[in-house]
Amino acid sequence: CEEFTLKDLSRLTNGFAEEAKIGSGSFGSVYRAKLPDGRVVAIKRAERASTGARRRRRFDAEHAFRSELRLLSRVNHRNLVSLLGFCEERGERILVFEFMPHGALHDHLHGDETDRSSSPLFSSWEARLRVALDAARGVEYLHCYAVPPIIHRDIKPSNILLDDDWTAKVSDFGLSLVSGSKATPSTTSSATAGTVGYMDPEYYRLQELTERSDVYSFGVVLLELVTGRKAIHRDNSQEGSGSPRNVIEFAVPAVEAGDVSKILDGRVPAPRGHEVEAVARVAKIGAECVRARGRTRPVMSEVVAELEWAVTLCE
Ligand code: ADP
Repeated sequence: CEEFTLKDLSRLTNGFAEEAKIGSGSFGSVYRAKLPDGRVVAIKRAERASTGARRRRRFDAEHAFRSELRLLSRVNHRNLVSLLGFCEERGERILVFEFMPHGALHDHLHGDETDRSSSPLFSSWEARLRVALDAARGVEYLHCYAVPPIIHRDIKPSNILLDDDWTAKVSDFGLSLVSGSKATPSTTSSATAGTVGYMDPEYYRLQELTERSDVYSFGVVLLELVTGRKAIHRDNSQEGSGSPRNVIEFAVPAVEAGDVSKILDGRVPAPRGHEVEAVARVAKIGAECVRARGRTRPVMSEVVAELEWAVTLCE
């Protein structure tokens, strides 16, 4: 991975201009740029924080930067977003990634109507389940093949990005920890310890970090893919009338009752032929991933195997 100068990156983004900006997250801002050799990249620039009140956030950001750099330079897989370079100069912390032209899965699932209806994920179960399979393979690699194993800790649809051929890749390793390491107060007590709606409740109770917590978050993503509903969404049924509702409460009872058709509506394509069985299998594996007790959840290799089967059914 290449070291860039601040001058080069600033030139490539017109001085980190607003027009070059494509997104922002907990880490800072993300810019699109073209390198002199023609490669399009996403430049992630950490927010600069200097005043006392912001010191805590700055500490978190520095921690996230180092951890992302350390972890990303060790991993290489077609379903993980590749790190191409970095810059750590004059207090700046910048990472350069391969650019993912179709953006985040979150926008395809929950973006505005036009974004959603023009996405292949809106019309094809095969495309939808392939995204799940790709992302599962990325997480499986982190758990099973990275040495030492890595726990991502922030699996969610905005951290699953789509390449121009719709290959899904897992991104944002800022919160990742090497499996077996202790989650220190600096990584557990702050807002950066995960995302509401995706966090494993058992992890919070026992403070014991294992791969099973990623499996839980991945299960929430699977239930979002199957239902088209956000992890936490408004309940518009007559009884619920607008109160917040978790996708787990929404989907799992129907899955356990063997009545998956109840949770499918106009937000997802209508399954046809073998797709009906494929969707039911994915809903079932999603429900298993979010079981309260970590030990009863499947491991990522089992999730991958089930998704491979489901995709085959859709072909
Ligand atoms: P967060 O901290 O919320 O996970 P990030 O800082 O990783 O978010 O990214 C914010 C947004 O920028 C993403 O949701 C995505 O739309 C965009 N983005 C991030 N990385 C890339 C990339 N490699 N290619 C294209 N877009 C990206």
